[in-house]
Amino acid sequence: MRIDVLTLFPEVCEAFFSASIIKRARSAGVVEISCTNFRDFAEDRHRSVDDKPFGGGPGMVMMCGPVFAAVEDVEARHPGPHTRVLLTPQGQRFDQSIARELAGQTHLVVICGHYEGFDERIRLGLTPREISIGDYVLSGGEAAAMVVVDAVVRLLPGALGDEASTDQESFAQGMLEYPQYTRPQVFRGMRVPEVLLSGDHKRVEQWRQEQALERTRQRRPDLLKRRAQE
Ligand code: SAM
Repeated sequence: MRIDVLTLFPEVCEAFFSASIIKRARSAGVVEISCTNFRDFAEDRHRSVDDKPFGGGPGMVMMCGPVFAAVEDVEARHPGPHTRVLLTPQGQRFDQSIARELAGQTHLVVICGHYEGFDERIRLGLTPREISIGDYVLSGGEAAAMVVVDAVVRLLPGALGDEASTDQESFAQGMLEYPQYTRPQVFRGMRVPEVLLSGDHKRVEQWRQEQALERTRQRRPDLLKRRAQE
């Protein structure tokens, strides 16, 4: 898979993509990631990427020219199919099933906004998939791009050391994950549940399933309701 992140702050995203699991996945050739600055596609000598909104109002709006040019450039250099993702608080709420869908694509072109957002013709002309990471407003799309790329990359085959890890964790089966413990067996009077030390794999598996169900029932009953409807 290839991911191009288009942003006004490529250095912010690049630093995040150069650590931990994403760094490893890039080195192993599981994913190719590149961050591009819209300013490199500005059309004037001031390298302008934004301007005042027509009709008045506060702030600045990202202009069509540099955004269209950046998208068209990365797509021309890496023949399709391409999946354009526009990060916006007005988009579809991001979740694990969208992460799974995106992980099945060949080339993601992730567009980060800034300032007051985008000229509407960017949405209309590029017809991207519009994604929000939650009902709050960030100053820019960079943090959202990191969230989306991280969630997608860890689902790619070969990205994690242990392939089973993504099948077991929260949301994979429409439930939250069971509680985990590691050494020491007793910490400040809190003991690891006896079953986990028993060596009885069947009992451990059963305990984990019960715990996952109970935890989901308590914290996210909506997940169980959705699971029952599927
Ligand atoms: N004026 C816009 C509105 O009210 O819909 C918000 C613009 S926001 C200050 C600037 C940029 O941050 C957006 O263009 C988008 O790329 C990004 N952003 C902000 N909140 C986001 C969210 N919840 N999910 C994804 N991207 C977000």
